[in-house]
Amino acid sequence: MFKPIAIDGAFGEGGGQILRTSLALSLVTGRPLRIQRIRAGRPRPGLRKQHLAAVKAAAAVGRASVSGASLGSCELEFHPGGCYPGDYQFDVGSAGSCGLVLQTVLPALITAVRPSRLLLSGGTHNPFAPPFHFLAKVLLPLLNRMGPQVRAELLQWGFYPAGGGRMAVDITPAPRLEPVDLTARGNLIRGHVRAFVAGLPRHIAERECRTVGSAAGGRFETEVVELPAAAGPGNVVMAEVESANVSELFSAFGRRGVAAEAVARELADQVHAYLEADAPVGPYLADQLLIPFGLAGKGVYRTLPPTRHTDTNAAVVQQFLEVTLSLRQVAEKIWEIEAG
Ligand code: ATP
Repeated sequence: MFKPIAIDGAFGEGGGQILRTSLALSLVTGRPLRIQRIRAGRPRPGLRKQHLAAVKAAAAVGRASVSGASLGSCELEFHPGGCYPGDYQFDVGSAGSCGLVLQTVLPALITAVRPSRLLLSGGTHNPFAPPFHFLAKVLLPLLNRMGPQVRAELLQWGFYPAGGGRMAVDITPAPRLEPVDLTARGNLIRGHVRAFVAGLPRHIAERECRTVGSAAGGRFETEVVELPAAAGPGNVVMAEVESANVSELFSAFGRRGVAAEAVARELADQVHAYLEADAPVGPYLADQLLIPFGLAGKGVYRTLPPTRHTDTNAAVVQQFLEVTLSLRQVAEKIWEIEAG
């Protein structure tokens, strides 16, 4: 029996990412995990519904024995019994993010011995979580370059807080992940802004498109999409930036009391910072690539100055895997993250 890896959930950013990354890598390595002071850096610490859904999904995939898996719990012990690929349905509950649950089980399933199919229900487009389109257009294509083949299909939109969304994910694993080099973005091929409304007036999306379109100096195509009202209420504006070597996707969510123009400017600022930095990997993708690059054991990418989230996540990955993740500044606004 391995001794559990002891993780301090209060470390660094002290958020839910420490838990998700630890569960993900406990499943990959088969090492049991003991995590204390879960989400101590957040105003309401401990396991919330969203995190419990991630624990339950990881426990199912690992046929794990778990203690401390209850709402508000600040301590958890997780002993995986292995990694069991297969067909799973995970109900993330109300509008909990499907993307964050996927993040928890995907590393083990892309390196498993057999394919898997996941059906996730909950929120597909939540603020503070990877939206479905980010997964489908950015993260999964990069994982596919590393060997596994993962395809995601949006079956039904689910916005926060209404929920009710569904996505299917088909995973064909690879025995190991091949390193990739993401140091250059390459020329901009296409910028595409899409503003979606569900159960909200069309003019919200039109104003968002106008604002982002003019901030991008007319270089980006814009599109307004009205979704069935039943999927809402919800509004998201997303910009897909397709360059020769990589695609990135940024998003901003409409919310009560915030003008459509202000939401659009949040998006335009993210796109501007990305294009200006001339790095291929944006801030969210940077923290989500740490596990796959850690598993590959080699590889390098360039990104914007790392967030505290990324620093924290890098430290957790190195507690589980025999890999060094080095972060160094290479130009005024560019950092390089190297696994080796
Ligand atoms: P909590 O403690 O409240 O659970 P957390 O630390 O788990 O917080 P966040 O810091 O909000 O959560 O990050 C959650 C994850 O969602 C990270 O992997 C982050 O990269 C990803 N993410 C957040 N926003 C976006 C976005 N707009 N696009 C893509 N990924 C995103």
